Amino acid sequence: MTAALLDHVRATLNAIEADGLYKREREITSPQRGRITVRTLAGDKSYINLCANNYLGLADHPDIIAAAHAALDAYGFGMASVRFICGQQTIHRHLEQAIAAYLGKEDAILFAACFDANGGVFEPLLTEDDAIISDSLNHASIIDGIRLSKAKRYRFANSDMGELEDRLREADADGARFKLIATDGVFSMDGYIANLPDICDLATRYGATVMIDECHATGHIGPEGRGTPALHGVEDRIDIVTGTFGKTLGGAMGGFVASSQPIVDLLRQRARPYVFSNSLAPAVAAGSLKAIEIARGADDRRAALKRHTARFRAGLTAAGFDCLKGETPIVPVMLYDADKAQALAQALDDRGIFVAGFFFPVVPKGRARIRTQLSAALTEADVEAAIAAFADAGKALHLI
Ligand SMILES: *Cc1c(COP(=O)(O)O)cnc(C)c1O
Repeated sequence: MTAALLDHVRATLNAIEADGLYKREREITSPQRGRITVRTLAGDKSYINLCANNYLGLADHPDIIAAAHAALDAYGFGMASVRFICGQQTIHRHLEQAIAAYLGKEDAILFAACFDANGGVFEPLLTEDDAIISDSLNHASIIDGIRLSKAKRYRFANSDMGELEDRLREADADGARFKLIATDGVFSMDGYIANLPDICDLATRYGATVMIDECHATGHIGPEGRGTPALHGVEDRIDIVTGTFGKTLGGAMGGFVASSQPIVDLLRQRARPYVFSNSLAPAVAAGSLKAIEIARGADDRRAALKRHTARFRAGLTAAGFDCLKGETPIVPVMLYDADKAQALAQALDDRGIFVAGFFFPVVPKGRARIRTQLSAALTEADVEAAIAAFADAGKALHLI
């Protein structure tokens, strides 16, 4: 490595720090749950966790842990192979069939992560003759996946159906053979739900395919946790669903694409992150399979999650905080300025509340926030304590 490259890297790190954008990673010494233990300079400290994607609280569920243990014993630790060489066990097909059935699709294909599912889903299906029309708030992995395909790219402002229609027309005028609309089901940074009924209507009118990313929905949104299509009653009109096992469904890792049989079959042949990357560990597959079963019947957990979310939103708003409106357990507390978001995150940390400030490049510049996420793993007392801590920290920093 040249000294010049190292100097350049150090200068970049210094610039990130100077902009107040440096992300520091803390060490949790307990399992992931509502109350966690975190290593600090003063020793281990207990926190209320408001920033996990552990919406139903399944990350430490005893039945999921038991299923993973059993799979370790039955199938071993690792596969040491991609799927098509010698990397497929019964458990992998079971998981694919279970997630497909859960989401009402013909089949599904596993990836190491949803980042890989989104990275691999577009390129095999579309060529330079085709068009992908993408929501401006889509997750980074969708943006990267679209870049990896040769299709022409079109963007519409978040959930702006007028702009979406304009882009569909433009794509037609440009002679697109196939048009695909790509959107998050729930937008991860803002907690907004995509307007799937209108998207499906436009897709029908313009003959487009609809792909949605359900990472922040599968398991906790809609009836039985079947996601935003089920919430809106448009399951049959969504062609391709991507999602993760790394959030609500146990929170371990792994992604998937669920769709019609030919789409899944072609992805098995051509999706590069699938063909050239290792199979999911059997314990992860078995735990995720159990998580689907639990999530499906977890109306009690979904109800607790709703109650906590409504109470937290109301409490923070009454205290004078500016929360983005919405119905999902993602409650973004807007500070706009990265330094303020960092200061509030630190003040909350001092008060035993584990949150993360989000700022550029994760959200646009000038849109810094603390993104809180509620969980069924929290108790009512945890939620009240969190509201009180926000109010106290906000006053101490003159933010409210
Ligand atoms: C978390 C997330 C991903 C990435 O999922 P992984 O399985 O962690 O790679 C993709 N899309 C969205 C919308 C997400 O929130």
